[in-house]
Amino acid sequence: EHAPKELQTLADDFNEMVAALADSFTALEKSEQDKSNLVAQLGHDIKTPITAIKNQIEAIQDGVISKEEIDQTLDQMAFQVERLSSLTKQLMEITIMEKALPQSPANQEQKVWLDQFLLKLLSSFDYILRKKQQKLTLQVDPKVKTLMTDEGKLNRILTNLIENASKYSPVNTTIYLKIEAVNGQIIFSIKDEGIGIKTIDQQKIFDRLYRVEKSRNPETGGSGLGLYISKSLTEQLKGELKVESDYGNGSIFRLMLPEI
Ligand code: ADP
Repeated sequence: EHAPKELQTLADDFNEMVAALADSFTALEKSEQDKSNLVAQLGHDIKTPITAIKNQIEAIQDGVISKEEIDQTLDQMAFQVERLSSLTKQLMEITIMEKALPQSPANQEQKVWLDQFLLKLLSSFDYILRKKQQKLTLQVDPKVKTLMTDEGKLNRILTNLIENASKYSPVNTTIYLKIEAVNGQIIFSIKDEGIGIKTIDQQKIFDRLYRVEKSRNPETGGSGLGLYISKSLTEQLKGELKVESDYGNGSIFRLMLPEI
């Protein structure tokens, strides 16, 4: 009996997202440089979850899905909406960044209370971690209680890194998030037990649209934009983003921010 309300929420989110996506595509297409590659790639990535949701909605409308199956279907739809939502966020970022503005969007610096920030950040991963039976362990240096930064940008960088750690790791693995203060810097490290990245790919993964061959399967549903955007946001925060990886045995991404 709770299904109709949840479905309505999903449908609302979905409509909102599709409208936002359409706006972003128009903005990108209108921008001066040639963005056809990017638009084509994103269009392709976005089509898969949209088709999946469309089919499921139709199946529900046609009464093909039994009451018992509705919960499971909703779960699948929620998963597709997550993917769409992440692609939308990336498209928004890129639209803003590529508008050829003289400066990048200004930082909205504020005092961020780490506890609250992490609670919000980590709870957004409940769903995807549960799906893959992955654990996330957190280790925070007790010296780090607050930091001055643009909370939204920091959230987007860490979200991308944790999403990747989950996406490029098998089921039943652990992701380690560590936060420490070292030599005037705050270091966020995200370590996974996943597929790892070959040395020759380690520099390229920060390039726009670059994806390691192996990840180009529809299941991971990426766009090759996450790290490009994360790197650019990191520069805006006057930090550094680095990767270290042992191919086949996992990766560590380190985000270093100035401790002000
Ligand atoms: P996307 O994940 O959408 O493909 P990203 O820019 O986030 O794009 O990542 C670029 C590529 O870097 C990915 O396609 C993948 O090949 C590789 N990659 C990123 N994070 C990891 C990770 N934690 N482990 C292994 N490979 C990764």
